[in-house]
Amino acid sequence: MANNNDNSVVDLAIIGGGPVGLFAAFYAGMRSMSVNIIDSLKVLGGQLITLYPEKYIYDVAGFPKVLAKDLAANLIEQGLQYGARTSLGEQITELSFDPQSALYTLHGLTDHVAKTVLICAGIGSFQPKTLPLPNAESFHERGLYYAISHLDEFKDKRVLIVGGGDSAVDWANAISPIARETTLIHRRDGFRAHEDSVAKMRAGRTNLKVFYELKSIIGDKRIEHATIYDNRTKREETLDVDAVLVNIGFSSSLGPIMHWGLEIDHGQIVVNQQMATNRAGIFAAGDVAQHPGKLKLIATGFAEACIAVNYAKHYIDPGARVFPGHSSEMR
Ligand SMILES: Cc1cc2nc3c(=O)[nH]c(=O)nc-3n(C[C@H](O)[C@H](O)[C@H](O)COP(=O)(O)OP(=O)(O)OC[C@H]3O[C@@H](n4cnc5c(N)ncnc54)[C@H](O)[C@@H]3O)c2cc1C
Repeated sequence: MANNNDNSVVDLAIIGGGPVGLFAAFYAGMRSMSVNIIDSLKVLGGQLITLYPEKYIYDVAGFPKVLAKDLAANLIEQGLQYGARTSLGEQITELSFDPQSALYTLHGLTDHVAKTVLICAGIGSFQPKTLPLPNAESFHERGLYYAISHLDEFKDKRVLIVGGGDSAVDWANAISPIARETTLIHRRDGFRAHEDSVAKMRAGRTNLKVFYELKSIIGDKRIEHATIYDNRTKREETLDVDAVLVNIGFSSSLGPIMHWGLEIDHGQIVVNQQMATNRAGIFAAGDVAQHPGKLKLIATGFAEACIAVNYAKHYIDPGARVFPGHSSEMR
């Protein structure tokens, strides 16, 4: 997606082009606000595109089920329809305020100036936890996966999945119908995944091995074998595999945002009922925002985005109504 070189002041700078930032951009457009969406990733869509593009989401209102990448594509179309500017591949590292002009400057690769700021930075910059094996790095793109962008790559393959959370279990359910052989190992016999997904996996074609851990991966040009062991008996077993998918969680950090003078609680930005932070003109929504009753869901993030944008509008123009009315009556 091309970046826009326009550096003019916008009404609202949105840090983070994930689902919540994109919906906020749409809503701000509907309120005639100019918008700049800045994301450290080179693509829009946040976690939907980076972490689970091929997974179905079932709890977005109006969609019985929707692939994460399709939801992202729709949000991008909806979010950019009013001409929001995008500044991608740019992490915002500093935020400064000029009391004379009452403008914020966001410092990334370039400076972005805005009347208000909405932080939709999700879990910050995130990365999948990597395998603590000395040769793991050498199998990068040669059979070792931490995320999946094309399910077809696993067709007719012998796949070993490591992990016991939602990602590992959901991928086992998605891969096993098309793979030649799917084995999932997990170090405990309890899963952190949804009960329904675990039940599906147990009833499906996945060869399940609990209390097993990965000891080594072996191969010449690509991964050919994996040695696993039973962590109770230490008995080892070597499997012939074409691909190893590691889903052992993510590490994430708000990074520079921690130092912008915002009130932070457990790695999230504290907001009030208007989604306003402790700094005037700075709002937060989505996974990054913390308030009583918080749920980190796309559905709740959308609602938070509407609230934040409407109060940002009111902050810039106190004469503007907070509640804009219904979208169905606006056009
Ligand atoms: C495997 C998995 C499955 C999930 N399934 C569901 C589900 O079924 N239903 C559901 O409701 N939720 C689900 N979620 C959670 C959902 O994806 C998140 O709640 C949602 O993505 C939050 O959206 P967001 O826009 O707040 O943040 P994100 O999607 O995290 O986007 C934040 C963006 O901000 C950018 N950013 C961060 N810091 C900076 C910075 N300093 N400068 C510039 N850019 C920055 C990041 O690069 C990122 O693109 C799932 C999550 C995972 C990992």
